[in-house]
Amino acid sequence: MSVFSHAELDDHESLHFINDASTGLRAIIAIHSTVLGPAAGGCRRWSYLSDAEAVTDALRLSRGMTYKNAVAELPFGGGKAVILSSNTAPKSPQLLAAFGRAVDSLGGKYVTAEDVGMSVDDMRQVQQHTKFVSGLPQSGANAGGDPSPWTALGVYLGIAAAVKSRLEKDSLKDLKIAIQGVGHVGAHLCQLLHDAGAKLLVADVNRDNLNAVKTAIPVEVVAPANILYADVDVLAPCALGNVLTSATIPKIKAKVIAGAANNQLSTLADGARLAARKILYAPDYVINAGGIISVSHEYYGASSEDQVRADVEKIPHRLQSIFAESSESGRPTNELADEYARRLIAAGRK
Ligand code: NAD
Repeated sequence: MSVFSHAELDDHESLHFINDASTGLRAIIAIHSTVLGPAAGGCRRWSYLSDAEAVTDALRLSRGMTYKNAVAELPFGGGKAVILSSNTAPKSPQLLAAFGRAVDSLGGKYVTAEDVGMSVDDMRQVQQHTKFVSGLPQSGANAGGDPSPWTALGVYLGIAAAVKSRLEKDSLKDLKIAIQGVGHVGAHLCQLLHDAGAKLLVADVNRDNLNAVKTAIPVEVVAPANILYADVDVLAPCALGNVLTSATIPKIKAKVIAGAANNQLSTLADGARLAARKILYAPDYVINAGGIISVSHEYYGASSEDQVRADVEKIPHRLQSIFAESSESGRPTNELADEYARRLIAAGRK
């Protein structure tokens, strides 16, 4: 496995490998940029097929965090941690402590929070070993806690903006929306979309998560292998990344793709593939910034939920500008978002 010639190394500032033999913790912390502030981004726990796959994921996710935080106008750079372990295996307090110590050893260059496979409770344990952590249980009326409901709100508002732009509809009522993955974000998103009158098709590989949504609201369950190709107006990928590829895109029927998952596009060229098929793609790190907005308010001090909400409500406006520019120039939305993010980081560097 090469690191310095890795295709995703980009201009990452550093990559840290943690091997704590006594607890079994094997983790990678990737710091993409600290230009606009400490490198913030959640910690993902996943059963990677290889070390190389974990490195690639950490590099791509941390760069995405830099772009996400810049576009959301947060005083954060971008970083990400991945723990190489099954996302359903039990986590020992010792392992979480070792992770907390690893974060602490970076002296505040990296700020962690929960992502796939990690929870608010885990962050509370991590906090006992470092102050560079957010996404902790809410205290009083202050913002904080599980970022997922805020991510879901931003995605919901972003879907409405994309529907207005591509389908020229002011309401989601009776629209068919497919949601891939009904975990923390997907389940909240289902509730918001259902309340808005949308008809929902859902898929998940986790039976418990699927059953929880099925018992709460009326949904049509689709096999995981078919959800991307469902005959719907909107597809919301809310599971993992790399779902929009040269193989999947030709079979997608939705006119809008807008969801929470990070790194939905397998490659940059997949954005152009979607544009060529007139599928409007909401760039993932623009639409899914609600959670990190909450994390930022929590980390930097006592903000209210109203302040978080006001910032999350800016997400659809950012998307509308990208959609309008894309429609005028014919350029893919992902390229426009990347250019915008890089301009903001370059300005910060000056
Ligand atoms: P989660 O682990 O709670 O939920 C993910 C769900 O997707 C799980 O139920 C899992 O079983 C399911 N899944 C995995 N592979 C699948 C497949 N092939 N088909 C169908 N379902 C599948 O994670 P989450 O916190 O809800 O995050 C979802 C996505 O959104 C992730 O990509 C995450 O990085 C991204 N994201 C989350 C937040 C947040 O606030 N939690 C913020 C920004 C981005």
